[in-house]
Parts: sequence; structure tokens; C-alpha cells
Amino acid sequence: MSSSTLIAATPAKTKTLGYAATSPSTPLAPFSFARREPLPQDVQLEILYCGVCHSDLHTARNEWQGTTYPVVPGHEIVGRVTAVGDEVKRFKVGDLAAMGCMVDSDRTCPNCREGLEQYCPNFIGTYNSPDKHLGGMTYGGYSKNIVVDEYFVLHVPDQRNLAGVAPLLCAGITTYSPLRHWKVSKGQKVGIVGLGGLGHMGVKLANAMGAHVVLFTTSPGKKEDAQRLGAHEVVVSRNQDEMNRHLESFDFILDTVSAQHDVNAYLQLVKRDGTMTLVGAPPQPPSVEVFNLIFKRRQLAGSLIGGIPETQEMLDFCAQHSLTADVEIIPIQKINEAYERMLRSDVKYRFAIDMESLK
Ligand code: NAP
Ligand code: ZN
Repeated sequence: MSSSTLIAATPAKTKTLGYAATSPSTPLAPFSFARREPLPQDVQLEILYCGVCHSDLHTARNEWQGTTYPVVPGHEIVGRVTAVGDEVKRFKVGDLAAMGCMVDSDRTCPNCREGLEQYCPNFIGTYNSPDKHLGGMTYGGYSKNIVVDEYFVLHVPDQRNLAGVAPLLCAGITTYSPLRHWKVSKGQKVGIVGLGGLGHMGVKLANAMGAHVVLFTTSPGKKEDAQRLGAHEVVVSRNQDEMNRHLESFDFILDTVSAQHDVNAYLQLVKRDGTMTLVGAPPQPPSVEVFNLIFKRRQLAGSLIGGIPETQEMLDFCAQHSLTADVEIIPIQKINEAYERMLRSDVKYRFAIDMESLK
């Protein structure tokens, strides 16, 4: 390919503003960069709210390795459509819309054909993935606007609390998808480990699906909140007597913990043939006592966000059940403080950035 074709293939760009980390140890700070002008199949959103996920922090600080700097995190996005390409059919200027952790995939592999784009080998993340249009890396939702292929843009059925809808795009779908995949239903006993962004949505969703919900927490002060959010029982996981009362009794446990912890303590609570699924992604690998699996034929599994069709299904389910995230709205200038508070488990239960604050 000649250099002239390369230039011709590069779409027009406009400048925008975001917040970026430039190294694992530097606080996030204002950062100017370019977005492409919408291509025929693209939707351009002015970002209204962006949730703050623990994955943003893991990535900003290179805790999983593989971060390319500068990185603009953010993948829980609600916005207003400000432009659409000629071929866009499902959105028009002025609509409210949302997008989550993915901006592209190959659309042809077996995963994509099943609507499981998150498992596509050519999945492109909303941030820290190669940007095939402009080169460099994709930049996420801690920014004024974003341009995305229409396929990855979702409709917002409940528009009453947009800040509370934003976290559904990661925390919501990451808990909804495994609860559905492992067929959580009425009458089952379901454990949710950790009451943070993901965990509090897990409690709400499992309750709405009819399960008997038990929340495991390291923070005794969260007990009343957990009950208000939909937990039928709350166990302080550092209390061995409380843990022992639940031995071999769970159909399903969803572990949302962001830091190193003992998964064996929870595996022992799963009943024969039950499943424990990890969605939390601490940088250190877990240590699993194999007899906890063998003796009761238990399964230990993992799950990644959710596909686009299921994400729309989750948004519709949440609208039907009047579920949104409990958010503390912050201006973007408080993002570094929010990260420190998230590390101390001091958030009720998701920060959402009001993007109006970014000027
Ligand atoms: P978060 O809001 O910080 O919540 C994590 C919760 O884990 C805390 O609130 C705390 O709950 C518990 N916790 C923290 N440190 C702990 C420790 N040392 N021991 C035991 N419990 C501890 O984080 P989040 O945004 O929900 O994300 C959670 C994890 O999921 C992160 O690792 C994130 O990267 C990952 N994630 C995965 C996916 C996926 O697709 N699989 C998607 C999004 C996020 P208590 O105070 O109740 O104990
Ligand atoms: Zn996330």
C-alpha cells in the first residue's frame, strides 16, 4: 500500500479533551487528543456520564501489564447523539444512547455470530486497544465525546437517572451475563462476593431474578445497605462462624473482588455440582485447593462482560425492574481521589463522572 492510500484511508479528525494517565504512577490529568469524524456507520456521542470501574484503575496503573500510555479510561458511557453517518439506521441526532467496554470486533467469527462479541479474538476495547481508524490506541469515556460503530451503541430505555444507567454498561452486564448463563432463578441460593460497583449490581439483579441472595463482605458497615439493595442475608467473610453456617449450600456464587483473596473459602460453600464464577480480576492468580473441586464436583468458572444483544437485554430488564446503579456523582477533577477511595472500598457503590465538569 502506498503512503497516499494510507493518507486517503485515514478519516478526518477533530480535537477533543479527556483525562489520561501517562504512566502507572502519575495521577490522571487533562489530555488533548483527536476523535475521527463519523464514518458512514458511526454514531458520535457527547458523553454525559461515565462510570468509574475498577478495571479503569487496574489499567491506568498497569496492574494487569499491557497498558499503553497515555491511556484514557472509561467504559460505562451514557451520552447524547450529536452526529450520525449516512448508513446509520437505529439512532438520530438528539437521541440518548449508551456504550460499554467494546467498540469493535470482527463480526464474522463464531463468537460474533452468536452475539458474544466479548469473546471475539479481534475484540477492540473502548480503551487501550489498537485503533484501526486513526492508529495508536483507543481512548475511552473520560472525555467529552466518542465515535463508535452503530452496532456497539445501545438504546437507553429508562432515561430518568442517566448517571445511574451509565454503570450498567459494565458493572450491570458483567453481573447479568453470568447470572443468566448459569440460569439463576427463583428459589436458588446465590452468593455475591464483594459489595462494590459490580457486587451491588449483582445483588440487585440476582434479587430481581428471584434468587435467595447472600452478600459476602469484608466491610461490616455495608450490612444495612446490602439489605436495602436486595440481599436476604449478609455474611462478614472474616467471621469464620458466619461462613461455616453456609457450607455446601450455594447453587451459584459470583465473586467480584478486585484484590487478592482466598477463593477456597467460598468454594467450600458451593453445593455438589454448583458453580463459582470469577468476574473480579485481581492481578495475582488465585490459589485453588483442588480437593474443593474434586470432592463435590464443583465448577470454578470465569465470565467477561456480555455481548451486545445481551447488553441491550440487560438494559431492558433493568428498565422493567426500575434498576439503576447507586452512584456518587463526581466532577472529573476528583477522579484521582475517587480511585483512592475505590481502593479503600469507600464508594456507595459506583462513582459516575458528570462530564459537564470537563472543560
Ligand atoms: P470495586 O467497586 O472496587 O469493588 C470491589 C469490592 O471487592 C470492594 O468493594 C470490596 O467489597 C471487595 N474487596 C476489595 N478488596 C478486597 C480484599 N482485599 N479482600 C476481599 N474483598 C475485597 O470494583 P468493581 O469495579 O466492582 O470491579 C471488581 C473487579 O471486577 C475488578 O477486578 C475489575 O477489574 C473486575 N471487572 C471484571 C469484569 C469482567 O468482565 N470480568 C468487568 C468489570 C470489572 P467489600 O467491601 O464488600 O468487601
Ligand atoms: Zn468495567
